[in-house]
Amino acid sequence: MPISQNVGGKLGIYVHVPFCRSKCAYCDFYSFVPGDETVCERYVNALLSHMEYYKSAVAERLPDSVYIGGGTPTALPEEQLLRMIRGVRRTFHLAKNAEFTVEVNPATASYKTFVRMRRAGVNRISIGLQSADPGELKALSRIHSRADFEQCYRDARRAKIQNISVDLMFGIPRQTTESLLRSVDYVTRLRPEHVSLYNLKIEPGTPFYQNRRQLVLPDEDTEFEMYEAACALLERRGYKQYEISNFAQPGKMCKHNLKYWNCEEYLGLGTGAHSYFNGNRFSFVPNIQAYIKGIEHIESDIGITASSEEIKGKARMGEYIMLKFRLAEGLPLGEFQRTFGSDFLELYGSKLPFYLKKGYMVRRGDNIALTHAGMFVSNYILSDILTFADLNAVSPANQF
Ligand code: SF4
Repeated sequence: MPISQNVGGKLGIYVHVPFCRSKCAYCDFYSFVPGDETVCERYVNALLSHMEYYKSAVAERLPDSVYIGGGTPTALPEEQLLRMIRGVRRTFHLAKNAEFTVEVNPATASYKTFVRMRRAGVNRISIGLQSADPGELKALSRIHSRADFEQCYRDARRAKIQNISVDLMFGIPRQTTESLLRSVDYVTRLRPEHVSLYNLKIEPGTPFYQNRRQLVLPDEDTEFEMYEAACALLERRGYKQYEISNFAQPGKMCKHNLKYWNCEEYLGLGTGAHSYFNGNRFSFVPNIQAYIKGIEHIESDIGITASSEEIKGKARMGEYIMLKFRLAEGLPLGEFQRTFGSDFLELYGSKLPFYLKKGYMVRRGDNIALTHAGMFVSNYILSDILTFADLNAVSPANQF
């Protein structure tokens, strides 16, 4: 991308690692099992060159969050993972106390790896458990057991990683509200600082999609019951919901992910990674060979750019609305007025009384937010509130 313009402000850095030990049946992320270690080394070399390419453009932005995700970053050979982590710190001038997260699959990291990651600058890990129920883990074709997760969690704590997030899912085949609550209970007793709770979606192109008629999935009412019950248990255990799928102990919200929902900027490097940088949204090719080849001859990264769009006017407003309504605190009317010079209620208020009356939305002071019931059907509500033109103006990367 052209990198001359610098709009200032703090920045997040995302690095995508497209490798996994095996492919889960529900997953539609760009990730695969690497054939051998050479491809891992070449990919990390490419990432380091790509970081170097952006070094001067990022120099004054003082990134205060880094997120290495995937895929499974810990599926990389340890030496390559550490090279990449050190490369981020060496290339970019990070803010003091920057949050530095690495995603971890429970079967792919040891105590020693955690110690080395912490020494290299990692201060937060996000572990994908998904469920504590052996049958549900099997249904998801996860490669780890609950015991693997527990070992991984304790290893991370022993290695003095003081900020841990755990991912859970609801809507898994044959999952019940009771089994979900057992998973939430199990996880919250370990006291991670942060919990994410995602709704399993059956995405086209996945084995789950191909076999969707054989899957015994909870119906929509049961899924809503699951979501409400899990949210309530998490709140009782001291995890405040701050986004549709995210819950944290006080002061432990994910700084990096908040950037996405607060429309702040982030630079995403790696194959398939998305960015919002210097007022542009762009992404790089989801094809590792094309990415490596493009970087090996880098003078400009336009050749590996898959999409690019300047975000302004209607598109920016549409994104702002869609992202702010993901947050538990909702959309701040005053900020909307200051940012866009228009009154949100005048533009979009006609449909709100219905959702407020039915309990899908709530007004708290200057903010309008979705309730749990509203969050569960947020896509429907937002497409009802926004006009067809607004939705069309929003970048596809930000529709959910
Ligand atoms: S570990 Fe994560 S990224 Fe890899 S296949 Fe499973 S869900 Fe997808």
